[in-house]
Amino acid sequence: MLQKFDPRNKDILIWVKDSLYARNEAKVSVFDSVVQGGDAVWEGLRLYPEGLLMMDRHLDRLMDSAKAMHFEHIPPRDEIIDAIRSTIQANEMTKNVHIRLTLTRGEKITSGMDPRLNQSGSCLIIVPEYKPPVYDNENGIKVITSSIRRNSPNHLDSKIHHNNLINNILAKIQSNVAGADAALMLDLYGYVAELNGTNIFMSRKGVVYTPHADACLHGITRGLVIEMAEELGVKMVKKNISLTEIYTADEVFCTGTMGELTPINNIDGRIIENKSGIKVMEDLINAFEDRIPNLCIAI
Ligand code: PMP
Repeated sequence: MLQKFDPRNKDILIWVKDSLYARNEAKVSVFDSVVQGGDAVWEGLRLYPEGLLMMDRHLDRLMDSAKAMHFEHIPPRDEIIDAIRSTIQANEMTKNVHIRLTLTRGEKITSGMDPRLNQSGSCLIIVPEYKPPVYDNENGIKVITSSIRRNSPNHLDSKIHHNNLINNILAKIQSNVAGADAALMLDLYGYVAELNGTNIFMSRKGVVYTPHADACLHGITRGLVIEMAEELGVKMVKKNISLTEIYTADEVFCTGTMGELTPINNIDGRIIENKSGIKVMEDLINAFEDRIPNLCIAI
C-alpha cells in the first residue's frame, strides 16, 4: 500500500536540535552525519489519546543504539521527553500521530567518516505526522521473499536501530516491482528474519512462533506480542523458521509501530489457510488493542 500525503501534515512543526521549525524550514546541515553516512539512530513512536505507546521502551532502545554507535553528547532522556512534549503540544496533536524520532551524530567540521570531526554534539529531530496504521489490517497483506538478506551481527548488528536502511529499501523495491505490500527478508542461513519494516510471527496448531532476534530488529511490538502470548497462556516459541514452515503456517502476521498487528495472507503466491482451524492471531490482535491505554505514557 502506498501512503498518500495527508493535508493535515502541511503545516506541522518539526523539532531540529533545540527548536521548532515550520515543515519547510526544518533542515539539517549538509555536513550532518546523517547526510554524510546515514550515521544516525531512530525510533518510530505512535501517539494514542492516552499518550505515547511504550515510550519508555522506545527511549531505552534509542539510548542503547546511540551508545552502541559511540555517540557523544547524547541529550539526556528528560530533555528528549521535553522536546517530544513541546513538539506534540505546539502541533496540538492528540491521536493518530506517528512520530519519527532521529538522533544523528551531528554536524561535522568537514566532510569525512571520522566521528572526531563531529564537534558540536548530536542532533535530535522530531517529526510528528498524522498517520493512521499504514497496512490494511482488516484484509491483510501480500508479501514476497526478497533476495536481499537482512544483516547478521557479522555485518551490521540489527540490535542497533540505525539509519543505514539500504538493504531494507532494496528489499522493498523488489516487493514494489512484484506488486506486493512488503518484502520478507531471510537471514544469512536462509531462515526467515523479518519483513523490510516489521517483525514476523506465525501460528501452527495454536502454537505461535517467531524468529530469534538475531537478524531482525528486536521490535517493541514484537516484545509486547511475546509478553501477551505468555499472559494469554498461548505457547510461544522462538526458533529458526524456514520458508516452507511459513508457507504452510495456519496464520502469519507482522508487527510494528507503523502498522500495529497485520495479518499476512499471501506469501510468494502461497495462500495462508488455517488448516487446524485454531485461531490465536485474533486473540493477540484483540489483546493488543485492549492493552494500548495502559501501555501509553501520558505526555
Ligand atoms: N523491523 C524493522 C526493520 C523496523 O524498521 C521496524 C520499525 N522500526 C520494526 C521491525 C518494528 O519495530 P517496532 O515494533 O519497535 O516498531
